[in-house]
Amino acid sequence: MSQPDHLFGVYNRAPIEVERGEGANLYTKDGRRFLDFVQGIATNGLGHANPILIDAMTKQAGKLWHVSNIFRIPDQEALAERLCDDSFADQVFFTNSGTEAVECALKLARKYHAAKGNPERIDIITFEGAFHGRTYAAVNAGGNDAYLTGFGPKLPGFVHLPFGDHEALKAAASAPTAAAILVEPVQGEGGTRAVPNQCLQGLRDLCDQYGLLLMFDEIQCGMGRTGKLWSYQWSDIEPDVLMTAKALGGGFPIGACLATRDAASGMVVGAHGSTFGGNPLAMAVGLAAYNELSKPETLEHVNDVSNYLRQQLQSLISTYGDVVEEVRGKGLLVGIKVKPVNREVMAMARDAGILIAGGSDNCVRLLPPLNVTLDEAREAIGLLEKTFIAAREKAKETA
Ligand SMILES: *Cc1c(COP(=O)(O)O)cnc(C)c1O
Repeated sequence: MSQPDHLFGVYNRAPIEVERGEGANLYTKDGRRFLDFVQGIATNGLGHANPILIDAMTKQAGKLWHVSNIFRIPDQEALAERLCDDSFADQVFFTNSGTEAVECALKLARKYHAAKGNPERIDIITFEGAFHGRTYAAVNAGGNDAYLTGFGPKLPGFVHLPFGDHEALKAAASAPTAAAILVEPVQGEGGTRAVPNQCLQGLRDLCDQYGLLLMFDEIQCGMGRTGKLWSYQWSDIEPDVLMTAKALGGGFPIGACLATRDAASGMVVGAHGSTFGGNPLAMAVGLAAYNELSKPETLEHVNDVSNYLRQQLQSLISTYGDVVEEVRGKGLLVGIKVKPVNREVMAMARDAGILIAGGSDNCVRLLPPLNVTLDEAREAIGLLEKTFIAAREKAKETA
């Protein structure tokens, strides 16, 4: 398949040229319509071209786009206050992307211990299958070899553990160099696995026992995606630090690192910064998106649609067990482990008229907008059934 000549070849791009979107629909230059269950990888939480976001963006565009964080930005303070009111956090740092929010958290963790007189505490403990973004530190945190090879020596201070090895975890957490545990409560790219509540509790206990910060990467699973505003709210525990991005700006690039006052105590004047992070244009859109996404009705709706989708997918498994193996994830972060190569299933879904995302462990992901209607969910199930039939036919042909 031909790829763009003047762009770095780092993406394997699907052969569709996009032109415009509306809600859950994406239209191509050649006039085709797709049901978009990718939404910029769980980013357009309110779908494409949401009128409330368009209004917020156009109003702000005529007023003020950008100043620097050396001035007070009222909407930034307002959004930070909302985020803190609705979570464990006391303070926020705004970024332009998820991986920058991760960078901020990694720096915060080390600075926290350094400020308390323990600069040797630098180790960030992460788990297999993790994805934390693409900056140099974030790929080292993720530990995925495919993203690390060829980029020189690995950075020190990252410890990668398999899930479920309690002895190794205890050894790493009790080490005198341990700083923090970083985990996605529900994995996104890494196979859409939800960490059981009792494991989250176990991580909290270890952090409390050894003085580590517990840091949740909710860049994909936060902002209502799982049916609670934050995924950790399904459990009885709270983290010390949380990273959000993706749906936070409803499609506008915004990330944030949330922390308790104590966890952020090392982040004093000069410790960190960003030119664009939290600028007036981003914050106007962010506030509008947040108002919508954080509404109890929105979250209730996520649970309703997700229950419907999951029930339907379970019944498809009983009919198409040769194609579909398992349904995973939480809320509208739906992972489907498939038997044919996942990229082929994605292409067949596209041919059927629905766009779906990929994921590790041979998963595909359904990431509809959070305001997707039940009718659209029903349409999606029909198109996925078509996809599974096509996959079955193809397997027969090649057998
Ligand atoms: C997408 C993602 C990131 C990286 O966010 P970018 O905005 O691409 O930098 C980090 N962590 C998780 C869990 C993600 O899903």
